[in-house]
Amino acid sequence: MPRVDVVTGNLGWIEVICGPMFSGKSEELIRRLRRAMIARKRVQAFKPAVDTRYSEDEIVSHSDSRLKAEVVSSAREILERMDWRTQVAGIDESNFFGNELVDVASRLADSGKQVIIGGLDTDYMGRPFHPMPDLLCLAESITKTLAICMRCGNPAKHTQRLVESDDLIVVGAEGVYEARCRRCFEPGIPKQEYLDFARPLLKAKA
Ligand code: ADP
Ligand code: ZN
Repeated sequence: MPRVDVVTGNLGWIEVICGPMFSGKSEELIRRLRRAMIARKRVQAFKPAVDTRYSEDEIVSHSDSRLKAEVVSSAREILERMDWRTQVAGIDESNFFGNELVDVASRLADSGKQVIIGGLDTDYMGRPFHPMPDLLCLAESITKTLAICMRCGNPAKHTQRLVESDDLIVVGAEGVYEARCRRCFEPGIPKQEYLDFARPLLKAKA
């Protein structure tokens, strides 16, 4: 039986916005939260402490749209900071929160809140980025956003890492990552330079 908030009478649910970097996840999250505010709903937005690239207290998109957000260092802290009157909770960069977010998002939705979650669905190797797969299964609504491939201009679903590191999380934007389509994506560190270098030699051999 769907649970309904005892105070507001709202039915809670989970919406996920996923895709690669530069695909408009933050823009879309901000758009939905703004619309909720226009509808006079009580809104709280959260972002992880690990990502203070552009602002300490705002969600900022690559096109510079901004929305005030509370910075939290764990998913559990979202529960602690949650105002019981809040009707809509937005969470950006959700892939930084780990599996704890699955339980937290479910509890918020079960308590009658509309939970909007933005995050990368795949990592720099093209693997599922946890906890997004579980959140996608739990969600009532899923939006997959695509960026533009920086090599060929096709729709891009991958986040290409441009710097050398085996760490799952390397915080950065332009210069550190770029969007790539499935044909141009090179898992891990790009080796395209070698390919470009080798192509004339291969042609000469043929
Ligand atoms: P995300 O949250 O998915 O990283 P943002 O919402 O922060 O994306 O930024 C989306 C904006 O980034 C676009 O509206 C566009 O202005 C800009 N942008 C920069 N590079 C690209 C790209 N390769 N493909 C699409 N948009 C890009
Ligand atoms: Zn491409």
